[in-house]
Amino acid sequence: MDHAATTALRPEVLDSMLPYFGSEFGNASSVYGWGRRARQALDSARDTVSGLLGASSDEIIFTSGGSEGANLAIKGVAWANQNRGKHIITSAIEHHAVLDSVLWLEKQGFEITILPVDAEGQVAPAQVAEALRPDTILVSIMHANNEVGTIQPISEIGAIVREHGAFFHTDAVQTAGVLGMSVQELNVDLLSLSAHKFYGPKGVGALYLRKGVRLNPLIHGGAQEKRRRAGTENVAGIVGLAKALELAQEEREEENARLIALRDRLIEGLMRIPSTKVNGSLVQRLPNNVNVCFEFIEGESMLLNLDLRGVAASSGSACTSGSLDPSHVLLAMGLTHEIAHGSLRLTLGRDNTEADVDYVLQEVPMIVERLRAMSPLYQG
Ligand SMILES: *Cc1c(COP(=O)(O)O)cnc(C)c1O
Repeated sequence: MDHAATTALRPEVLDSMLPYFGSEFGNASSVYGWGRRARQALDSARDTVSGLLGASSDEIIFTSGGSEGANLAIKGVAWANQNRGKHIITSAIEHHAVLDSVLWLEKQGFEITILPVDAEGQVAPAQVAEALRPDTILVSIMHANNEVGTIQPISEIGAIVREHGAFFHTDAVQTAGVLGMSVQELNVDLLSLSAHKFYGPKGVGALYLRKGVRLNPLIHGGAQEKRRRAGTENVAGIVGLAKALELAQEEREEENARLIALRDRLIEGLMRIPSTKVNGSLVQRLPNNVNVCFEFIEGESMLLNLDLRGVAASSGSACTSGSLDPSHVLLAMGLTHEIAHGSLRLTLGRDNTEADVDYVLQEVPMIVERLRAMSPLYQG
């Protein structure tokens, strides 16, 4: 139940990749048969991905994943457009790939506005409008949050940003294969996604870059990806990404309905535990995301106990992230440190069943009770 962290490669995706680990090992830049066949595989994957996004194929740059996509989008656009202004807007709940890229640019002399979110983790389009300045070159707001699952009004924000004449990037790593992905409907200029979040391979992603948006590469050294990302292409990975995205988009409506039913069953069951609160929006929420806080409990202890019972989950608590501070997302939503430390994230996926949900609903209350009994603060 940690599909927001990563997902298992689908067998169909593995099958599509295998030839490129074997006999079809050519370098797509070579002129002979092996190279040409690798090139064809790349072209075909690019057509698939661009088709699914409603983009054209030369607007797709293959990357090593979501982190590279965000870095390339943000640093690439900032560097290439700094003659027009040095102001960048983002939100407080972004993935660190976005936040840390923006903060790094701040050290290089760019000016940054980090927008707050409401108690459900939503960015208000009106606040984006207010923050825009004549020297704003880029706005980056995620499509949906990876911790609390809140879906942002991207299309609305995009219209405001476009009207103003700045560029708009969205980190769609949590929504690719889950929500509608038309870059025209979303009003975005850049969109990043990562294969391993939708049952594709790790280490490969894609960045949509609208025609006409200038971007400096992060990696120099070759003419690959139209000079926007040098390096011999990860042919097998890219083929797998395209296959996984195609399958996810085909099945998304049916799968979302199934996940929403499981999600709501899980939320409902967990809410029966006293002193428990749901984090994020109950309406604008990813179909697979459950995030709750149990008062008087350390998320970390919950995770260890769940692991002992065979359940993989995640928390916005300290040690998991390797830092002392709880989740920046929960804090931005106004939760106190104490409450944020007691958060539990369960993210459902293809392989989860109703029986899994019921198993978790049987285990979690017992763990909560046990942990609270050991807490000096709990008076239950
Ligand atoms: C996982 C994730 C990333 C990073 O993607 P990688 O491919 O693992 O680098 C970025 N943004 C969000 C919202 C994510 O969930």
